[in-house]
Amino acid sequence: MSLDGTYDDGNIFAKILRGEMPCARVFEDDHVLAFMDVFPQARGHTLVIPKHSQARNFLDEEPQVLSELILGVQRVAKAVRAALSPDGVVITQFNGATAGQTVFHLHFHIIPRWDGVAVGRHASGGMADMDELKTLAQQIAAKIA
Ligand code: AMP
Repeated sequence: MSLDGTYDDGNIFAKILRGEMPCARVFEDDHVLAFMDVFPQARGHTLVIPKHSQARNFLDEEPQVLSELILGVQRVAKAVRAALSPDGVVITQFNGATAGQTVFHLHFHIIPRWDGVAVGRHASGGMADMDELKTLAQQIAAKIA
């Protein structure tokens, strides 16, 4: 998948948005949905996606959607910090397969980091236990301001 192309509504995040696939939901408002990454690079790895969008990547997105999305990313990142007390927080976003993108519905990664704890590789780790993800999601959700 290059940077160019049309949105495929069969992608996994579109299915999550339609309720066709489960997710460990952290937060949802009119604009964004946040849920736990099932192949987390670190404990608390959370994804934030726009709910009303057919943008495959950052470059395709409408300014208004992007505005709401980045506000949602900050809100969720603050909740991740409050819930898990990391020493740092990485916020990443990939555009095009060459850049590492594997799901072609725009999203941001929020990855907490702790001193001395290595981060996992992007999109290549093991699948997390769903009950553990749901517990983490609840802890983060409780800190949404
Ligand atoms: P990217 O590679 O930047 O497109 O990120 C896609 C992310 O989605 C990766 O970190 C995957 O681990 C994650 N992922 C893939 N399938 C699911 C799923 N069903 N639920 C939650 N996260 C997923």
